[in-house]
Amino acid sequence: MTAELISVGTELLLGNIVNTNAAFLARECAKLGLSVYYQTTVGDNPKRLKEALCQALKRSDVVILSGGLGPTRDDLTKEITAEALGLGLSEDAHTRERIQAYFDARGTEEIPENNWKQAMVPEGALVIDNDNGTAPGLILEKDGKTAVLLPGPPNELVPMFRKDIYPWLHKKQPETIVSEMVKLCGIGESRAELLIADLIERQGNPTIATYAKTGEVHLRVTARAKDEEAAELLIKPVLEELRARFGDQIYTTDERVSLEEAVVDLLREQELTVTTVESCTGGLLAGRLVNVPGVSEVLKQGFVTYSNKAKRKLVGVKKATLRESGAVSEKTAREMARGAVLATGADAAVAVTGIAGPDGGTEEKPVGLVYIAAAVRGQTYVQECHFTGDRVKIRESSVAAALTLLRKGILETAEN
Ligand code: ATP
Ligand code: MG
Repeated sequence: MTAELISVGTELLLGNIVNTNAAFLARECAKLGLSVYYQTTVGDNPKRLKEALCQALKRSDVVILSGGLGPTRDDLTKEITAEALGLGLSEDAHTRERIQAYFDARGTEEIPENNWKQAMVPEGALVIDNDNGTAPGLILEKDGKTAVLLPGPPNELVPMFRKDIYPWLHKKQPETIVSEMVKLCGIGESRAELLIADLIERQGNPTIATYAKTGEVHLRVTARAKDEEAAELLIKPVLEELRARFGDQIYTTDERVSLEEAVVDLLREQELTVTTVESCTGGLLAGRLVNVPGVSEVLKQGFVTYSNKAKRKLVGVKKATLRESGAVSEKTAREMARGAVLATGADAAVAVTGIAGPDGGTEEKPVGLVYIAAAVRGQTYVQECHFTGDRVKIRESSVAAALTLLRKGILETAEN
């Protein structure tokens, strides 16, 4: 079944508000297994709204409209939809009572006359109560097509959709879509795609989509089936295949889990404590770790060693190392990590030193050159990275690389 979204409102066209309703509805449609091929935004203009609606009704099974159900004159979604479907309007007694009760509950003595307009509904409409406002939602069916009308304010639309519209569409829709996320670190997007080129080539149901994130690649596996159980059965072998191909590069298959959470979980599992030593990331790495609730079990301390002096004083980087190799070097990164273990007694340390730019680069050490070191259970891993982008991007890439290297160190030094 296909669905299409029409967002009504001049404010949206002018960019005065962000169309969060469309994003929400599109995600919900995907969950329902409805294919959305078009989204339209149209202003509060009767002629153009009608044109957009008639076109949508021609090419899609379900058209979901949001906005323009209010009491004012420029709210005309309901009137135009009734006209387009050739339906007359009449007052719905139940909605009239609900509007009365809504105002009574707020102690309003005189109900604005134009609010009664909201009790008028197209003939044959399924009226959906609005628990957070006056305008009801409406479901209209005609000639095999469905129009769903929803109020614009997200605090009305979202609960109404979840409570009544989703179940209604779910019943109508014979298929369900289920998707699983496989999150990878320590691999670039093109390399990841190459490794599964054959799977992508012959994909049908399920489909595999790749998303590049900073320092990560996410793969979404999506299956369509008659119910959730059948969809899970289709997804399972694909997940197994991805596990076989990417192995440890998969840090989670749980959509909600971030890289830092996966790393903190691993530290917890292995009963390791960690400390951070940061130069160019300046605390960003510690900050990412501290995003994770419960991190205090594993993170005891973090250093921001921005100057050479701090690198020497706080984590014991040798003067000679700084002089001979420089602050941005493999040797300094290594000494930072090892020194931090010594200074704190943590089981592991992860260090970052690099040139985030825009200034400070040289031919030999360009902007984006970053060294990461992870010292775990007596082993030290160092990685030279070359990142591109602006200062923010380089720092974020460095943090992702540091988390990835720490994770690798933990996995490789783990017993068994
Ligand atoms: P009202 O009774 O408030 O007039 P309505 O159903 O007529 O509701 P609109 O007038 O189109 O809806 O929008 C009301 C408010 O809802 C907007 O000012 C805006 O804050 C929010 N809104 C409308 N459409 C969207 C959208 N697509 N995404 C996010 N917010 C929206
Ligand atoms: Mg309005």
